[in-house]
Amino acid sequence: MPAHFIRKIIDQERARDAGCAVVTRFPPEPNGHLHIGHAKSVCLNFGLARDYGGACSMRFDDTNPCRENAEFVASIKDDVRWLGGDWGERLFFASDYFERLYEFAVELIKNGDAYVCSLSSDEIRAYRGTLTEPGRDSPWRRRDVDENLRLFAAMRAGKFSDGAHVLRAKIDMASPNINMRDPTLYRIRRARHHATGDAWPIYPLYDFTHCLCDALEGVTHSLCTLEFEDHRPLYDWVLAHVSAPCRPRQIEFARLSLEYTVMSKRLLARLVDGGHVAGWDDPRMPTIKGLRRRGFTARAINEFCSRIGVTRSDNLIELSLLENCVREDLDATAPRRMAVLNPLRVVIENYPEGQSEEFDAPEHPAKPGMGARKIPFCREVYIEREDFMERPAKKFHRLAPGREVRLRYACYITCREAVRGGDGEVAELRCTYDPQSRGGGTKDGRKVKGTLHWVSARHAVRTEVRLYEKLFLQPNPAAEIGAGRDFTAELNPDSLRVLKNCALEPSLANAKPGGHFQFERLGYFCADPVDGAAGRPVFNRTVTLRETRKNK
Ligand code: ATP
Ligand code: MG
Repeated sequence: MPAHFIRKIIDQERARDAGCAVVTRFPPEPNGHLHIGHAKSVCLNFGLARDYGGACSMRFDDTNPCRENAEFVASIKDDVRWLGGDWGERLFFASDYFERLYEFAVELIKNGDAYVCSLSSDEIRAYRGTLTEPGRDSPWRRRDVDENLRLFAAMRAGKFSDGAHVLRAKIDMASPNINMRDPTLYRIRRARHHATGDAWPIYPLYDFTHCLCDALEGVTHSLCTLEFEDHRPLYDWVLAHVSAPCRPRQIEFARLSLEYTVMSKRLLARLVDGGHVAGWDDPRMPTIKGLRRRGFTARAINEFCSRIGVTRSDNLIELSLLENCVREDLDATAPRRMAVLNPLRVVIENYPEGQSEEFDAPEHPAKPGMGARKIPFCREVYIEREDFMERPAKKFHRLAPGREVRLRYACYITCREAVRGGDGEVAELRCTYDPQSRGGGTKDGRKVKGTLHWVSARHAVRTEVRLYEKLFLQPNPAAEIGAGRDFTAELNPDSLRVLKNCALEPSLANAKPGGHFQFERLGYFCADPVDGAAGRPVFNRTVTLRETRKNK
C-alpha cells in the first residue's frame, strides 16, 4: 500500500492512540455520473477504511433538489461497487438527516450563533465585501433569538417564497476568509426532492450539511479536494457551535486532472448536451461508465489511482499513465484473437478449393494454463490492407510481390500477383503457400521477416470495430475556459473511427458483452455491452498495444 501524507497522518495518530479508528466516507452529489476523478476519491476513502480495518460510508450529498435525481443515485452506486467500494450497511443520504440538521440550526439560533437574514441574494453579495475589503453587517444581524426562531419555523412551514429569507451563521463579516463572513446555512427552495418529495421547502447548504453528516456518521477523517481548504475553518466552526456527537477532521488533497480530457460534471454534461459525444457512457468519456464500456478494468483504474498517489499539489496526470495500467492488466489477462480491421483478400492458389483445416493457437502465449483455440484456415484469407505494399518501402518487411511472409500459427505464403479492381485499387492478392510450413515454421529453417495476422475469409465474423483517439487535441482543454475560449473547439475530430466491415476470428462471434481480448498486433478490444447483436458483437478498442507517439 503506497505511503502518502494522509496515511502518515493516520499512522501518527495511531502511534499516539492505538485504538483510534478510521471511518471515512465517499460523498458524491447525485447530479451526474462519476468520472475517473471520483475514482481517486473512491480508492482513497474505501482503501483507507479497508487497510486500517475501519469503515467507509457511501453518502449522497443530496441537498440541492433542482439538480439531483434517483437515476444518478443508482448509477453512482453501481460505479462505486464496480470500482470495488464496499459500504456494507453504511448507505446514507444527507436528506436522511434533514430533521436532525434542522434541530442543529435551531440550536445555533438559540445560542445566538445564527440569524434569519432578509436581504436579497444580490444584497448579500454586495454586503459580503471582497478579498481586499471587509464585509458589512447585515441589518438583520441583530434580530433577537425569538424572532429568528419564529421566522425560521415559518420558513420551514413554507410560509415564504424562494429567496425571501435565508438562515446565516453569525461569525465575522470582517474575517479575511470570505467563507466566514456570515455564510448562508439554509435557503428557501420550493422544489421537489428526489427522496423527501415536498416535505421540505428549505434546504441546508453544503458547508453546514457536510460536517454535520460526517459527525452523525462518526466519520474520523473527512477527505476532500483542495478547493475546500478555505472552508475548513467553517467546517470546524459549525462542529464547535452545536452539540455534535464527534469532531471529524477535514484533510484536503489535490484533485485528479488528466490530460486530453475534462473532469468536471458540468463540462462533461456540456459534451453530452451539445451532442459532441453519444452520451455519458460514450467510450471516449472519462466517466466510469464510459471507461468501462471502452474496456478499462476496475483493477487497472485502482492500480492507476495507487500509482498517482495522494498529494497536496495540483498537476495534470499523463494519459499514458492510465493507459499503461490498462495495458498491463489486459496483457496479463486478455485472451488473444486475430482480427483484420481493413481486409484485403488473399487467394492461396495451390490450396484446394473447398478444403479447410484448423491450426492450434494459444489463448495466451505466456499462460499455457489458459488453454488453446482452433483457428480455421482455407483457400481464401484476409490480411490487413496495410500489411501489403506493391512497392515496399525500405523498412517494410511485410508482404510485397515476390515476397514470402508467415501467416501467424498457419503457414508461409508468397505473393505472386496483386490484382487490381475497377477503381485501380489492389482488390486481391494471388499467393501460394508452402505445405511444408504448416503450423508456422519450415524444415529447412528458412526465415521470413514478416509475420501477419489473418482471418479465414469463409469463417470470418464480419462486424463493426470502433477505434478511439484522445477526446481533445489540447492536453488541458479546461484551460481554454480560463482563457475565455470555448473548450469544445479543442475536440479532436478524429476521436472516433468506425470500421464497418472488419473480419474477425470466428470464435469472437460468441464474445460476451464486456469481454476483453487482445487482437494480435492491433491492441486490446472489448465487446461493446450496448450495441451489437447475438453472434455479431461490436468491438471497441480499449488501448493500442504500445504507447502511440506523443502530442501527435
Ligand atoms: P465535479 O467538479 O466533477 O462536479 P464534484 O466535486 O462536484 O465534481 P462531487 O459529487 O461533489 O463532485 O464529489 C464527490 C467526491 O469526489 C468529493 O469528495 C470530491 O472531492 C471527489 N472528487 C470529485 N472530483 C475529483 C477529482 N477530480 N479528483 C479527486 N477527487 C474528486
Ligand atoms: Mg460539487
